[in-house]
Amino acid sequence: MEIDTDKPTTPIDIVRERIKTACDKYNRDVSDVTLIAVSKTRPASSIRELASHGQKVFAENYVQEGVGKVCELSDMQLNWHFIGHLQSNKSIEVAEHFTWVHSIDRLKIALKLNKAAARFHPLNVLIQVKLDDEENKAGVGADCLSVLVEQISEMENLNLRGLMSIPKPEDDFKSQRHTFSRVKKLANAQTDRGFTMDCLSMGMSNDLEAAIAEGATHIRIGTALFGPRDYNR
Ligand SMILES: *Cc1c(COP(=O)(O)O)cnc(C)c1O
Repeated sequence: MEIDTDKPTTPIDIVRERIKTACDKYNRDVSDVTLIAVSKTRPASSIRELASHGQKVFAENYVQEGVGKVCELSDMQLNWHFIGHLQSNKSIEVAEHFTWVHSIDRLKIALKLNKAAARFHPLNVLIQVKLDDEENKAGVGADCLSVLVEQISEMENLNLRGLMSIPKPEDDFKSQRHTFSRVKKLANAQTDRGFTMDCLSMGMSNDLEAAIAEGATHIRIGTALFGPRDYNR
């Protein structure tokens, strides 16, 4: 039997191939799309294994769990992003152990992170947005976005980089793409007002192609890299 050696077989190679195919199709430069491995619920050993394949950027959702892994893997020189719901009493831990925060959704959190970051290092931050029809979700509505952008831009220790979104799951590529295009429009409106928005964090295991088509610079992938999550672990 002949073996096709070009066909990727490991999860990381399959994801890289999906990214490359989408970039080729939608005229994107592969180097403009950062693959973030979302490692919530995964043990440090799985992160180490993925890092041995050259994956250096990881994201966590829960502060305690995330900080534990950041410390345990501090010999690895990994890049850590925080993407979970932020509580203001955890700002110091987040500022100390992470270099990116994707989930800023209110002024109070931005103020706390800015103050905490002064003790450690500047933070790259994104504002989490919710679209008009997602009433009960986390994130800033389009109506309040401009004000928060202005406020964060004034903060010395936060570098506002762009927007993040977690749209409701959709199976249909067209709908996925339409949703991401709305996030891109929100970012473009801020760019038009003179604010820097060089990052768009959108796209997960099921919709990374649609996100890349609409300009994602950071895609957050868990399941496609590590398999299904077990929250009972
Ligand atoms: C868990 C999580 C992901 C990863 O989702 P998958 O569908 O497993 O790829 C991405 N972004 C956020 C904010 C998450 O909480």
